[in-house]
Amino acid sequence: MCGIVGYIGSRNTVDVLLNGLTSLEYRGYDSSGVSVYDRDDGEIKIFKAEGKLNNLKEILKNDTTLKTPGIGIGHIRWATHGVPSVENAHPHTCNCGNLVIVHNGIIENYLELKSKLENLGCKFKSQTDTETIAHLIAQKYKEEQNLTNAVRNAVKELKGAYALCVMHRNEPNLIVAARKNAPLLIGVGNNENFIASDVPAIISYTKHACYLNDDEIATVWANKFEVCDLEGKIINKRVEILPWESQTINKMGYKHFMLKEIHEQPDVVRNVLSNKLIDANTKIKLDEVKLNSDTIKNLSRIEIIACGTSLHAAMVGKYIIESMTKIAVDVEASSEYIYREKTTNENTLVIGVSQSGETADTITAIRQAKQTGAHILIITNRPDSTMAREAHSLVPVNAGIEVSVAATKSYMAQVLSFYLFAIYLSEIKNTMNSEQLINLKFELLKLPNLVETILQHEDEIKKCASKYASTKDFIYISRGINLASAYEGALKLKEISYINATGYPAGELKHGPIAMLDETMPVMVIMMPGVVYEKILSNAQEAKARHAKLIALTSSNDPKLYDTFDDIIKIPQICEMLSPALTCVPLQLFAYYIAEFLGKDVDQPRNLAKSVTVE
Ligand code: GLU
Repeated sequence: MCGIVGYIGSRNTVDVLLNGLTSLEYRGYDSSGVSVYDRDDGEIKIFKAEGKLNNLKEILKNDTTLKTPGIGIGHIRWATHGVPSVENAHPHTCNCGNLVIVHNGIIENYLELKSKLENLGCKFKSQTDTETIAHLIAQKYKEEQNLTNAVRNAVKELKGAYALCVMHRNEPNLIVAARKNAPLLIGVGNNENFIASDVPAIISYTKHACYLNDDEIATVWANKFEVCDLEGKIINKRVEILPWESQTINKMGYKHFMLKEIHEQPDVVRNVLSNKLIDANTKIKLDEVKLNSDTIKNLSRIEIIACGTSLHAAMVGKYIIESMTKIAVDVEASSEYIYREKTTNENTLVIGVSQSGETADTITAIRQAKQTGAHILIITNRPDSTMAREAHSLVPVNAGIEVSVAATKSYMAQVLSFYLFAIYLSEIKNTMNSEQLINLKFELLKLPNLVETILQHEDEIKKCASKYASTKDFIYISRGINLASAYEGALKLKEISYINATGYPAGELKHGPIAMLDETMPVMVIMMPGVVYEKILSNAQEAKARHAKLIALTSSNDPKLYDTFDDIIKIPQICEMLSPALTCVPLQLFAYYIAEFLGKDVDQPRNLAKSVTVE
């Protein structure tokens, strides 16, 4: 995870680095640090702080020693090796302090390298894998006093993932950057250049960028940059114009980004549907899907790979695609797909789902799937991401920038993308009749207003959440298409409140989890009218018989539900197939208000980062 920035030019370097890190804070907040070369006294200075970026900003605000830096690198950390502390915060240095480095990724052979380097006399000050790279490059630098070559020779010995920025006191006019399995781009300006893990760090300064590929090393000066491969051969790189507007992202009066993003969902639904679903009588348009109709007709299987919240969207996707197209769909966590026998081939469509398009596990999984000959389609909020660039086809979800670490609107957008894609397939395969298709599209177009209706009843959900804020454990159950909603609702609650919440298929309760039930264990029951409604109700009765407190999330008007349930969260009617697009909203609000009552750091929950760029 971690975020990296580098700057070389005539602006106030510390400001550029801190602005960049601020927009990358979603990538980690265990510690932060910057390193700048002060031209006045010819020294590299390092400033580090544990915890949130504000702690570093305080240190820098009070520092009087900084004079005229024009070059620097910065880092925001999500710890993989070594506890969050000042000592483990980046930038790291070699023993003489002439070389500084920031790193995103994991060096898998760092113990082996460390012992070799210790034998050469290197003294380690931190527990990180990153410090190994600093010493290794410093050793290589001794050989020919050229930073680019030293980095190039050093990275050949690294196993694992890295995005790096390196500075050296003896070469104060350049930064060397390198990448393998972790994102990195160069922002190209006028007599100034930037390096960053992600676009938001540079977009307020330049719209021109060059994405580095794996095994490329860039040497960046203020007025030019040069990229070479591991053998030192120069590579001609394309500078792209970023399809981004510089925007100030603020909370618009909401207490947290998460609450703002939950409230943005009616517009997100409109955005996702716009241009793709024009009206109920027109076919779905997915311009970036490059599957031809013969391939679609011959598709034998679809495999969806994702992590976290995206995995839950994928589970909804499986139901949707199987019901609408009769194509068999498997869903798998990317981290599991990577290490098992591949059964995908040229007749398989593999769908990767990722908000950021940079999720390391999913990138590795789709690369492996691509090698089996499968067509790769990515559902992502970032059409400029690594996954999108490597895929054959794309469904951009258009959720807008999501700041809160707990995903809300991007989940909604991913689920909607699955509806669009499934209808698209069905229209080519003729698996639904035109009346069914028209009805479904008609219902889809109603979703923005229905989500708005749920948000208008936010106070009722908040009141319900207040009754359960002191609980230590929570169970979420459902069946069928809303089982994934139960998983996602439970994930939201544990992510931001740290309450032990688990989702189960309602029918599985009696096969084990029911043993945990008593009056201290509330159960959230997601039961939308449809094929599994009565079954879920029976499972809820079984929980009631064990004295569990029960909450129903339903659109049913049945007054008898009050005999069974302690609380009912009521949502509008919608066909069962589309109901996950509604049930997610009250579950997000429920988790939000519990975390808020508990005083948790809702937007930046402990131990998490938004873009998970390590495997
Ligand atoms: N492995 C490095 C550390 O623990 C970087 C972590 C990351 O990129 O997430 O400091």
